[in-house]
Amino acid sequence: MPLDNGKAPKSRLIVLFLDGLRWDYLKNNSLPGMHRLSKSGLSVPGIKPVFPSDCHANMHALFAGHKPSNTGLFAKNYEQNFSSPDLLWHAAAQQGKRVQLYHFPFCQEIGLLGEVNRSSNLQCTPSAPKTQSLSTTMQQVISEMDSKSIDFAAVYYGELDRVAHLYGPSSPELHSGPIAEVDASIFSTLETLTSSQTLSDVNLVILSDHGMTDFKSFIYIDRLFKWEMIENAVNLGTTVAFWPQPLWKNDLMKILSSVSHANVFTQSTWPTAKWGSSPSPPIILVAEAGFVFESQVYPPTREHVYHLKDKPRGHHGYSPDVVDMHTALYAFGPSFTPNLAYHIPSTPYVHRMLERLLHVESGMHLEKPGFVLLLVVIVCLFCCIMVAATVGFLLHRNRNYSLQVDEEIEEKI
Ligand SMILES: [Zn+2]
Ligand SMILES: [Zn+2]
Repeated sequence: MPLDNGKAPKSRLIVLFLDGLRWDYLKNNSLPGMHRLSKSGLSVPGIKPVFPSDCHANMHALFAGHKPSNTGLFAKNYEQNFSSPDLLWHAAAQQGKRVQLYHFPFCQEIGLLGEVNRSSNLQCTPSAPKTQSLSTTMQQVISEMDSKSIDFAAVYYGELDRVAHLYGPSSPELHSGPIAEVDASIFSTLETLTSSQTLSDVNLVILSDHGMTDFKSFIYIDRLFKWEMIENAVNLGTTVAFWPQPLWKNDLMKILSSVSHANVFTQSTWPTAKWGSSPSPPIILVAEAGFVFESQVYPPTREHVYHLKDKPRGHHGYSPDVVDMHTALYAFGPSFTPNLAYHIPSTPYVHRMLERLLHVESGMHLEKPGFVLLLVVIVCLFCCIMVAATVGFLLHRNRNYSLQVDEEIEEKI
């Protein structure tokens, strides 16, 4: 993990959460903000989401280390919920940190935060005016963070996701709009952070939940079979879970196996190691990238995109193996060593990094020691020597960090 907590034991943290930031959106050095970040910060592309690659599952992965099975993915009474005490903002507030959340959708419906929202250490600011730029928001956040001595601020920005759903991930509307706005905010935020003495303890982490791919076509499942063959179904749009009538299970499997642009799984064929714990439904049909299941009987209900009148141009929710679903992380601040190449395999591993930056214990730790954040990409001999020297220095200074590095090296070998 690219952290040097020894340098900044009381560091504060700003998280900029960019909903739907595909791994390659900001991979462009002609963007002034990214050019500036590339010289002084960290870039970690290719982070896989958990399955399904949607907002709710991956927000719980990022901020609580939860695996998909913990979010009740296919529960009949599934509802968005951000009240888990495992979530970093609750854990941090309970452990005495002053936490301010900005513009997360659940700030509009404060009940989603649960009882803990009454903690005076945790505040949740509803959406900004539509005309307010992200740069302005970030400057306000930094100013409030400084004047109110906030320890942890997290900002939600949803325009990348919204515009890519509407116009597509390669559209000029996305690139000249939200991507340019994000880049401008990165530029001005770095400028402010680097020019202020009182903010020298602040780390900035820019992260996301999933990517986006071009919409291709609907798959109309109502025409595939007779509904009396099943007891129930839950349609996530990119995945349909089926509970078949016992007598019809084999026939249903046969029909679903022949569906074009989709793959059928049972609990025994579910790719557990790659996608997380097996879900409880007996049969799951997963669409290939770009395809969306449509049904009059079981319409998809989970994502805001399904309420669009026209067909969406962009979509997410697919297998974590789809490269377009991968996202990225960028970081800057006293706890990060710039310009090193790191690899973070998937969104739950980001949670460990955030915990360590805030010096907070929260959430579900990954069960296998070898699954901690991996240090895997060192592109030349110079980097090897530099990393080895840094690790050796930190092993001496910081036992927690040394444990982590030991595990990473062990995993790599
Ligand atoms: Zn999202
Ligand atoms: Zn979305």
